[in-house]
Amino acid sequence: MLKILIATNNPHKAQELAQILPLSTNAGRPVQYMSLADFPNIPEPREDGQTLQENAIIKARAGLAATGLISIADDTGLLVDALGGAPGVHSGRYAYPDKTDHQANNAKLLDVLAEVPPAKRAARFITIAAMAKPDGEIIIRKGAVEGSIAVDYSGQNGFGYDPLFIVASLGKTMARLSMEEKNKISHRALAFAQMAEIIKNF
Ligand code: IMP
Repeated sequence: MLKILIATNNPHKAQELAQILPLSTNAGRPVQYMSLADFPNIPEPREDGQTLQENAIIKARAGLAATGLISIADDTGLLVDALGGAPGVHSGRYAYPDKTDHQANNAKLLDVLAEVPPAKRAARFITIAAMAKPDGEIIIRKGAVEGSIAVDYSGQNGFGYDPLFIVASLGKTMARLSMEEKNKISHRALAFAQMAEIIKNF
């Protein structure tokens, strides 16, 4: 049995990843995924990196250090062209510097883009996935999805900026996709599909 820690406290993410990652390796070895919910006493690391990659590595390394298990983590940012790439690495704490409030983040995004016409609201989600292995190796994979920021909320599914992010290839917001649909095209799915291949080859 190969045990892997998914180093996230976000239940939406853990659920999304459970659909993407393989339950056994190509050699037939079963894989069991743990999450931080299985280790309630692990302190949350300070995500004080300057980039998505630094933060993904901080989270994966902290999971490995606390459990000794191969640990995978991700850091995601929403990069809006009209805002010079903001909120970027600060996407979680866009509205408040010390807490994540998705509703307030979305309200702030709509507010700062109020004068920007739809054609100039291009944006992308980028996920950097990091795997920290007990032998010290760090593996990085990236996924991205292109889109734009809507002028109003649409859809009930997903989390975070999903109700405002129109997926370019689909012409509707991520919050209008089922989890299965989101998992075919999302930034995180694309990054973790590559991690899935790595796990299959263990
Ligand atoms: P994290 O680094 O993955 O925690 O993501 C930082 C922030 O980006 C989250 O707090 C959300 O605001 C936003 N975010 C990450 N992934 C998604 C997604 O799949 N949909 C919408 N927003 C997301």
